[in-house]
Amino acid sequence: MKTLTTTAYILASVFITGCSGIQSTNEPLKVLIVDGQNNHTVWPKSTQMMKQTLEQSGRFDVDVYRTLVTWKGGKLLENFPLNDGKVYRDLPQPQTDPAFKPDFSKYDVVISNFGWKAAPWPESTKQAFEKYVSNGGGFVTVHAADNSFPEWKAYNEMIGLGGWGNRNETDGPYVYFDDAGNKIVDDSKGGAGGHGKQHEFAVITRDKAHPITENMPDTWMQSKDELYNRLRGPAKNMTVLATAFDDKKFNGFGRHEPVLMAITYKKGRVFHTTLGHAEPAFTSSGFTSSLLKGTEWAATGKVSL
Ligand code: ZN
Repeated sequence: MKTLTTTAYILASVFITGCSGIQSTNEPLKVLIVDGQNNHTVWPKSTQMMKQTLEQSGRFDVDVYRTLVTWKGGKLLENFPLNDGKVYRDLPQPQTDPAFKPDFSKYDVVISNFGWKAAPWPESTKQAFEKYVSNGGGFVTVHAADNSFPEWKAYNEMIGLGGWGNRNETDGPYVYFDDAGNKIVDDSKGGAGGHGKQHEFAVITRDKAHPITENMPDTWMQSKDELYNRLRGPAKNMTVLATAFDDKKFNGFGRHEPVLMAITYKKGRVFHTTLGHAEPAFTSSGFTSSLLKGTEWAATGKVSL
């Protein structure tokens, strides 16, 4: 199996990104990042980092649409700072923002940087989003966005697998790989979502035929990150593109867990990455390269980056 070191992969991805920026004659793809309720210390900086990564490639123009942020006393806070360096993870239980009504139809692809315990979107916004993806819109779910909205059936079909939020066997099977490289669909009972200690880990490409992964190394190293385990969900029309081994020595479960997935939902395409817990993850070349490829694929069905 071919293994590329982190340094070699940085060089490779810089080369790919640099070339595509010069050679591309396409109009930039229009990206909308939605966020506002995320349990991670790196948020809201993570949204700014992804916006920068996408725009520096020359392939994307990025807008951000943020909910009002629930603040002390349950108040919704306006003009929440994009990045002021403070820690916002201990916010109270987020509340639905009735004014959260992005016009999804203006965009080629929507990226969710929502997280655990995000409050449901307004009903009309949920319907508009379902219509957008059903009609061929692209969607990218990053890290804890697969914790969000356990009760929203269409959303769970879009993301394929999810975790936390009382998800269990009624939401769908566990999906993982065994040591021999077989995909296991496991209906056994139990909760969904977890992770061991953060660490660097190798990501193994499992599908070299898919546009997102066809030019990725067979194995690459992800910077220190959370490795999500025991995700479960409908897993319909879902291709596991890459996995990582959830080593028991880091309190894992000894399975090869999906980290990159591609899902089709009606006419829409969804790219799901479980990577992206903290700042080192967002700056790693494996994360940025897969985000660029996955976002372009979700938007167009092809990858030029
Ligand atoms: Zn996390």
